[in-house]
Formats: sequence, C-alpha cells, structure tokens
Amino acid sequence: MTALLEAKGLHAAYGETRVLHGIGFSVREGGVTALLGANGAGKTTTLRAICGTVRTQGEIALGGRRIDGLQTEDIVRLGVAQVPEGRGTFMELTVEENMKLGAYTRPARRVTEDFEHMFDYFPRLKERFRQQAGTLSGGEQQMLAIARALLLRPKLLLLDEPSFGLAPLIVQEIFRILRRIREDAGVSILLVEQNATLALDFADDAFVLETGRIVLSGPSGDIIKDEGVRRSYLGY
Ligand code: ATP
Repeated sequence: MTALLEAKGLHAAYGETRVLHGIGFSVREGGVTALLGANGAGKTTTLRAICGTVRTQGEIALGGRRIDGLQTEDIVRLGVAQVPEGRGTFMELTVEENMKLGAYTRPARRVTEDFEHMFDYFPRLKERFRQQAGTLSGGEQQMLAIARALLLRPKLLLLDEPSFGLAPLIVQEIFRILRRIREDAGVSILLVEQNATLALDFADDAFVLETGRIVLSGPSGDIIKDEGVRRSYLGY
C-alpha cells in the first residue's frame, strides 16, 4: 500500500524549546497509524507540525505533494482535518452552527447534504441539532468535533486523544463509529492516544515517541508484543 502522508526529518520547536528531533513516519492510504507516548513526548506537536501551526523543519508530503511550509488554511484545503485535544468546539454556538462552520471550505449546499451522513454515524447530533454545544456531554462534544472534521471530506483525519475524559462505554461507541467511518469514507487516520490498548487494536501501524524521538515503530501487531511498550503503556 502506498503512503498518503510521509514525514521525514521533522523538527519542531516553540521558541528556543526544541520538541521534535528529526522524526519520520507515514500513514498509509486508507490506513490508521497510532502515535503513542508519555505526556509531553511531542504527540500533539507532531499533529501541529503536519497542520503548520508550530515552527517546523523537515519534509511532509500528502499524496506525494509537499505541504510543509504551506499555510494551515491551504493544508486544510488539501485534505487534512484535525480533531484537536479539547475538541475546538464553539461552545456558545449550536450543534448546527458548529457543523456549518467546520466545513467552511466547501459549498454550503453540499455540506447540508452531508449532514445526513453525519446523523447516520452520530444520531445524537440530530437529536441535539439546535442545542448549544456547550451543553452537550463530553462524548457528544467529541462526536461533534469528529463530524465537523469529516464535513471537510478530508483525506487525512488527525485525531488527538479522542478518548480523553470519556467513560469507557462512550469511548467504545466512538471507536465503533470510527471503524465504520474508516471503512465507508476511506479516510486515513493518524491517531494520538494515551490508551494504548485501544489505539493498537484500532491501528494498522504505530510508532512510539519519547521526548521527541521515535523509539519504536512498525505494525501494531508487533508493537503490542514489545516488552517495553507492554510495561510502559499497557501495564502488564
Ligand atoms: P500530552 O499527552 O500531555 O498532551 P504530548 O505528547 O502531546 O503530551 P506536546 O503537547 O506535544 O506533548 O508537548 C511536548 C512539549 O512541548 C512539552 O514539553 C510541552 O511543555 C511543550 N509545549 C507544548 N506546547 C507548547 C507551547 N505552545 N509553547 C511552549 N511549549 C509547548
């Protein structure tokens, strides 16, 4: 399978603080890659580097086309959608308004048609359509954030800890829906997750970051067998 996203020699820094030290990884066309690592390892920064929201050096290609150095807006237009940590929802606006805003790069008529697909994945969003987003439960807000990103019809979805702060049953529901989305929409996913069991079960490939360097990478089935990963992230 060919790579949709390919990053090489990626460095990133906030001012003088260097966070990524020359990492390389890829996400296959239609595949899921999980990015694991302890707090502060540089996972969110890696997603920011792809979106062009942190000072970055190195090469990033999407479908063979270089996207490093482009404006975030152009990277989004080329098919990269991010579901940020904290979900990036406009709390004062309704579910409907948030969904419309999410797809600002596309014609309004097309987007409204796509709402039906989103309601099929997330029936709760239909029930809560006119409700203020700030009054949604954490799980519903995560669903809204994913729906908003999908309305961009992305080639690549960047998911930052979708399980964060959610009850186990809701997490299971969200991952069940993500599996469907992956199959139907053929979207590729780069998934940052603290819950390594969940991430490795969902992903085809994975890599582990430690203080901005990749210490392990390969098929998820191999990573899950790694003794160090089991001890550090799986707790057995
Ligand atoms: P977590 O799981 O805690 O979210 P992470 O692996 O996603 O961690 P990052 O958020 O990428 O880690 O942070 C990596 C390092 O960069 C940390 O030391 C953090 O303090 C630093 N950092 C992150 N954002 C900024 C910022 N805006 N300005 C300065 N330093 C930052």
